[in-house]
Amino acid sequence: MTTIFGKIIKREAPADIVYEDDLCLAFRDINPHAPIHVLLIPKKAIARLADAQPEDQALLGHLLLAANKIARQLGVEGAYRIVISNGADAGQTVFHLHLHILAGRRFRERPS
Ligand code: AMP
Repeated sequence: MTTIFGKIIKREAPADIVYEDDLCLAFRDINPHAPIHVLLIPKKAIARLADAQPEDQALLGHLLLAANKIARQLGVEGAYRIVISNGADAGQTVFHLHLHILAGRRFRERPS
């Protein structure tokens, strides 16, 4: 099923895109929880991290390295937090795998 993120990939919905390559796309969250709050998504529609398959191993590694690149690009490589919510009970609301990249404030607390 196509989600809002699928529409952003196809440019059928607007987004403030900060990074794109062959495999992934990153754009600013519309409801930011930190001064920098970027969502990084694979172009392949994987609903949840739990749905990733062994053949997605390279893609998952690619996402983490892309997150690092985006953090450098945004000047926050020294301190950023990555969050992935898997499943509705974990707070996932959009069922297209995404990494939250959060930065620009102190994160003293553990992810809650
Ligand atoms: P999660 O709750 O982990 O599934 O995260 C979904 C995130 O997507 C939330 O932080 C929303 O604010 C964000 N979001 C939903 N729709 C859009 C959109 N059209 N553009 C940017 N961010 C969005």
